[in-house]
Amino acid sequence: MIENLSAFKKYCPSLTEYKRYKTREVQIGSIPLGGNNPIRIQSMTTTDTMDTEATVEQTIRMVESGCEYVRITAPSKLEAQNLEAIKKELRSRGCEVPLIADIHFTPNAAEIAARIVEKVRVNPGNYADRKKFETMEYTDGLYEAELERIREKFTPLVKVCKEYGTAMRIGTNHGSLSDRIMNRYGDTPLGMVESALEFVRICEDLNYYQIVLSMKSSNPQVMVKAYRLLIQKMEQEGMNYPLHLGVTEAGGGEDGRIKSAMGIGTLLEDGIGDTIRVSLTEDPEYEAPVAIFIADRYKRRSPHDPIEPADEMNYNPFEYKKKVSLEVLGIGGNNVPRVVADYSNRIIEKPADLNDIGFFYEEKIDKWNMNDCAADILYLGSRDIPFDSPKGLRVIYDCGFWKIMKDKKKGHPLFTSEEYLNSSEKDDLMNFISVNIHSLTLEFLQKIKNDRTAVLVIETKNAHGMAEQRRIFIKLLQNNSQNPVIIKREYENINPDQLRLFSSTDLGALLLDGFGDGVWINIKEIKENMPAVKNGFWIKSFVNQNESNEKIVNRILFGILQAARTRISKTEYIACPSCGRTLFDLQETTEKIRKRTEHLKGVKIAIMGCIVNGPGEMADADYGYVGSGVRKITLYRGKDIIKRNIPENNAVDSLIQLIKEDGSWQEPQNNI
Ligand code: SF4
Repeated sequence: MIENLSAFKKYCPSLTEYKRYKTREVQIGSIPLGGNNPIRIQSMTTTDTMDTEATVEQTIRMVESGCEYVRITAPSKLEAQNLEAIKKELRSRGCEVPLIADIHFTPNAAEIAARIVEKVRVNPGNYADRKKFETMEYTDGLYEAELERIREKFTPLVKVCKEYGTAMRIGTNHGSLSDRIMNRYGDTPLGMVESALEFVRICEDLNYYQIVLSMKSSNPQVMVKAYRLLIQKMEQEGMNYPLHLGVTEAGGGEDGRIKSAMGIGTLLEDGIGDTIRVSLTEDPEYEAPVAIFIADRYKRRSPHDPIEPADEMNYNPFEYKKKVSLEVLGIGGNNVPRVVADYSNRIIEKPADLNDIGFFYEEKIDKWNMNDCAADILYLGSRDIPFDSPKGLRVIYDCGFWKIMKDKKKGHPLFTSEEYLNSSEKDDLMNFISVNIHSLTLEFLQKIKNDRTAVLVIETKNAHGMAEQRRIFIKLLQNNSQNPVIIKREYENINPDQLRLFSSTDLGALLLDGFGDGVWINIKEIKENMPAVKNGFWIKSFVNQNESNEKIVNRILFGILQAARTRISKTEYIACPSCGRTLFDLQETTEKIRKRTEHLKGVKIAIMGCIVNGPGEMADADYGYVGSGVRKITLYRGKDIIKRNIPENNAVDSLIQLIKEDGSWQEPQNNI
């Protein structure tokens, strides 16, 4: 139980000491979940459930790659029944993995599956409801009548689960809330929580407690807030069900990994989560290694250097609100978070060395161009560059070097907190100060409060670094400090693929709480190769060996800001991971769409495998490309169908035509 819950708006055992949030144990076949058990890894097959051989083969590969539970879709009674053949074949091959049936819209399939597999997953948004996107007033009487109707439809499944010892996940998805919930609570984390709790209360009335809960969204901000709120509501109602974490429709590649590590990692940092599924638009055996990597970090988290407890919660962890800060030369205030490029380990010889951070020099016309992911601030340490830096790119030097520069207007100094307190010479416009939690003495806090030129760069060496940096923000809030803050993390001896996952959690968790006016990563040493995570399965790499560290880091930082929805610099793809319902090659199509649209900054495109779930799950996408039959695609603008059942061959062209008709199309600029 969490102490002083309401007083401190708490949602986890501690904001400063790593402890797992303790839930009840739920038995799923031979592998228990929750309680003191490790964080379990799971994923879902993408094969046709009626293809027993393919599903068995894929399940075995997934188990070898690290999955401890495997979920299989059961869209109708036929597939539900075929789970028996799949299970039998798996067991005959010595594979004992617990199976989970994934159910949407089909209570009769759920009741069959619950007699066969170890767990069923139901989506409360579509178990007993079909979404019509209707707006209507639900009086209390009407609402109660709806709940009664759900109770009638859901009770038989609960009874079967009780009888067969089958566990159940009640898994809410942000994109598929019922009309009833949408009308009363809106498209909100509270609506997601209520949607699940309505079903949980029915289970408890029937004395059934083998329940796992999830609150997924493709937007990590919504997902994190919903899980926190769920915990608070569970505590209020005396519940303690294990939590399954995931960012749904995260897409694939780098962006999918960043979104997943941010959403899942943010919660794991606070000890929340009993099982995780990383959901990527890739073969499912690529998912478990990423999930294992994210989860394994917490095996070594405790003990860590102590952090002063935060006994006052001075921000709202259930709602996104950017921390108020004053603007200093374009940093802080209402500006988007700034990106720092750290070139302190690289000698810059020519303008082309800045191509890696989005700047391109045209010698003929003596002009700099920049792309949408151009860094804002360049840290050079104690070196200068032999040419004029592009306008709009602020430069930082170590203060010792800056003080001896002939032209101090070329950049701004970076002080340590002691140097800042003791230095008689400072920049008139902007001074960066590198601080850690121990720097925040009363004298220091008082001094920066009155300094409209001070920008803090917060650092940490604590193994529980996100919590320590969050503690810095809490302290700054307590002292009413409104200086802009850049979050800096340093990583040593790390591979770029690990860096992507860790930094997405470390920086993303703070951004999701509205903290941070800028982001900065420094890598001390980069490892070329990454060890296999399990049985020869690797984290799929997205690093081109010819890329510089600065280019990799810059791309990751813009990816993190995009995933946290704090700075949009590119197209956003919301792609389902595909499953047995998918009737086209989702990975290939996603790649095709990405190639033609990736220059459309800020446009959100959903690519969904099926018309049954796809439209509901597209969340806030601007356009939807949804499979609606064999080689047939239906195109959406928001939630509205624009073209039905067009042949797959023309569908990407039709999508682009639709974007053009809406005036949202731009021609790609090839030179940058
Ligand atoms: S939207 Fe994708 S993952 Fe979800 S049910 Fe349809 S095909 Fe399967």
